[in-house]
This record gives sequence, structure tokens and C-alpha cells, in this order.
Amino acid sequence: MSYEIKDPLWTGNYYNEGMDPEVFDKLKEECGVFGVFGHAEASFLSYYGLHSLQHRGQESAGICTSDGSQFHYHRGMGLVKETFENDKLLDLAGSIGIGHVRYSTSGESGINNAQPLVFKYKEGDLALATNGNLVNAPELRKKLEQLGSIFQTSSDTEVVAHLIARSKHEKLEDAVKEALQQVEGAFAFLFMTQHKLIAALDPHGLRPFSMGKLGDAFLFTSETCAFDAVGATAIRDLNPGEMIIIDENGMREDRFSEPKQRALCSMEYIYFARPDSDIENNNIHTVRKQMGRQLATEAFTDADVVTGVPDSSISAAIGFAEQTGIPYELGLIKNRYTGRTFIQPNQELREQGVKMKLSAVGKVVEGKRVIMIDDSIVRGTTSKRIVNLLREAGATEVHVRITSPPFQNPCFYGIDTPSREELIASAKKVEEIRQTINADSLYFLSQEGLVKSIGKNVETHGMCFACFDEKYPTNVPSC
Ligand code: SF4
Repeated sequence: MSYEIKDPLWTGNYYNEGMDPEVFDKLKEECGVFGVFGHAEASFLSYYGLHSLQHRGQESAGICTSDGSQFHYHRGMGLVKETFENDKLLDLAGSIGIGHVRYSTSGESGINNAQPLVFKYKEGDLALATNGNLVNAPELRKKLEQLGSIFQTSSDTEVVAHLIARSKHEKLEDAVKEALQQVEGAFAFLFMTQHKLIAALDPHGLRPFSMGKLGDAFLFTSETCAFDAVGATAIRDLNPGEMIIIDENGMREDRFSEPKQRALCSMEYIYFARPDSDIENNNIHTVRKQMGRQLATEAFTDADVVTGVPDSSISAAIGFAEQTGIPYELGLIKNRYTGRTFIQPNQELREQGVKMKLSAVGKVVEGKRVIMIDDSIVRGTTSKRIVNLLREAGATEVHVRITSPPFQNPCFYGIDTPSREELIASAKKVEEIRQTINADSLYFLSQEGLVKSIGKNVETHGMCFACFDEKYPTNVPSC
């Protein structure tokens, strides 16, 4: 049976070039890490921790444990629950463990690049897992290759392993320090040997990284929602440039670099982190609600219902509704159980693929003026698609409000973004974007409004807004 497309809602080959439509035209989260020291069930804690970090990476998952004399590890492509089916966890003995969920932002997608990466080095075994991206990895890699290093993966994390292996220092923490002083970028690193766990955060603190406790055990995670999943208590966030070392002598706080101007990724607040996570004691849901309130004060328009694009924009939609008195409604529903969507042979089936993922609730929006809250506009194709879904379902007006400033610049710190030319806000003015996405009105939250919503003093608690204002906190490649 063939379908004739009379009036396609969207055109062009933007289906992320054949990738899973779940992620079409959306920023991709970077990765998630989870570490345990001093708990007999390190692998199970890591499993549950990674499960709650699954939103940060769905391509591969892995856990490496140490029983004090040797490593046990398993990595695989796919979700955490798929990777560790068939009792694989039972093979991962030991009280120290590190785990990782990955979406490849550098290096190819493939089992070789799945983390934790495990190496032999002169002092024994070493496992590494990281969240982030090293901007100077290509040049370091080239230098190391000239010196004779042979790389097993295309992941920039391996560069750090080689730097450690080449260090003249005897103690791992000294070798790690020396290695981290040579890299630039965003990273939350976990290093593990048979007896030791080291956690380190980049000098700008670009990525979130928290330490917690469960009984006598120390835990580390990219997001505090993983602590809740295992019943642990958050102690504090790591400081920029800090490294924490835990071994049989206890826990020591040290640093590999003086802290530089803090530059925590503001997109964590806007989009990446789970609403039940806290960053710097700020609950993400509460901050997003405040963004919605702020949007309402900056760009009120009269309407019948407010709805948010699930999941990241629901909190902001609730805030917008509370501020304006316009009722919040579930106008859009995400179907979480569609499984893998295959590359569809024609446009009509591709359209169906999108509908499988997101639906407009006709009875809620029919005949209504709708305010649709979303977290960002990347290429613009998704926004157009969702606006049209609401119109097809009977909305008489669709007003789009975005909880971030226009996304104009690519990220070099572990967030997969299209090139600058593909970012609609880099090429078009707001009115042109409004026309492109077929909205009745469009407004982006101001950067001042965003800062106010997050509620931190940016002078003392600096943040990265480079994808909005191009002020990158480190040297970056020209783009
Ligand atoms: S450039 Fe944007 S996405 Fe990247 S770290 Fe900075 S704020 Fe986050």
C-alpha cells in the first residue's frame, strides 16, 4: 500500500539522518556516571543508580567492580536493563564499582567506546568513566600517538588513560592530577583501581557531580536522583578542580587545579537534569516552575489552556499556569513504550512514527487557544511538528513560549548539538522562527530571566550560557 502525501506537515530529511526519532531535533544529553566505594552490593547499587540516570544516555551502559584483587565488568549496547539482563550483575562481585550510561558525543557509537573503559597500567588495573567532553583531546591524542601510544577506542576518555599510563608518578592520585592538568573541557571523572576510587570535576565545574553516603559507603553521581533511587543521602556537590580520593585510609579531599570561574551548564537546569534532581541544593522542578513564572511575566498572552511538551517542560508549564491563572492541562502526551522506531520507508510512515511518540489530546485542546511551553528550539523542526499536532487536534491558536534564550551556538562540552548553520536561531530572527514553526506568537525567556529563575548569583556561582551568548568558559575550536 502506498501513501500519497497531499500536505505534509513537515518536509525534508531532518529525521536526524535516520536515527531514532525519539531524539529527532532535540539536544542529546551527554552521559551519566555512578560510583560506589565500600558497599558489598556495589554492582546492584550501580545498576539502580544508572537506571535513574538513563535519561542521560541510552546508547550503552556498563559497570566495573573490584573485589579487592581483580576487576569484574560488563558493558553492552542499549539500555541499562537490556545490558544487564540474564543475571549479569551476579558476576560483578566487589565493594567498589563505577558505572556509566553513554550517549556518544565524541567517538563513535559502538561497544569499544562504551564505558567504563578498563586498562592495565603499571600499577595494576584501571577503570575510567566520565561525563563530559575534552576539547583538546584530538591534539593530545595526536601527540600521544607520536610518542607511541596505541589507542583502542575513539573515545576522548582514553586520552586520559594514556596520560596516566605515561606519568612518572608512582601514586595513582598524582598521575591523575598530572593527566587532568593537561586536559581542557568539561568532565566529571571516576577512576577506579582494585583498592581505590577517585572522583574529579573539571576546573570550571561545567557538569554536575555529587557525593553522597549510604551507611559507611561513599557514592558519586551525575545527578542526585540516583541517590534517591538507592536510598543514599546527598552530602555535597564536588567543587570545580576538586578530586576526592577514597581507599583503605579513608576519604581525602584534594585538588588538581585551582578553581576557575564556575560555569555550570545552564542547560542542566533547562532541559537535561531530571526534575527530582537537585543541583547546588536547587531542585530542578522548582527552578523550571520559576522559569515558567518568569516567562509569564515577560510574555503574557491570553489563552484558554497552558500545556508543556513532555517531559522537561511540564514543570515550567505548571509555573506559567500558576502565574497567569490560565489552567494547566495535559495537552500533549508522550508514549514511553513505543520501543525502537525503525527508519520508515516513506514520509507518511515517518509521520506515524512521530505520532507514536507524541500525541495531542484532542478533547483538551479542541477549540482552545493554547500556550505551549517548550525548553528550547534547536533546528525548529520539532517545534513546527508539535504546533501542527495541536492545530490538527483542533487548537484555534498556538502560542509558543520557550524557557531558554535562543539557542545560537554549538556546545563543546559534551552536549550533542548540530552545527551553527543548522541552529535555527543562529540564522533567523524570532519573527522568522515564529513563521517557520507556524505559531501564532513566540517568545524566548531572556537570559536575565533565566538567571533570576535559577536564583544563583552568577558572579559567585558562575554558569555557562555559551549556547546563548557565545561566552565559552574555555578555549574552543573555531566553528
Ligand atoms: S554551551 Fe550550552 S549546553 Fe554546552 S555546557 Fe554551556 S550551557 Fe551547557
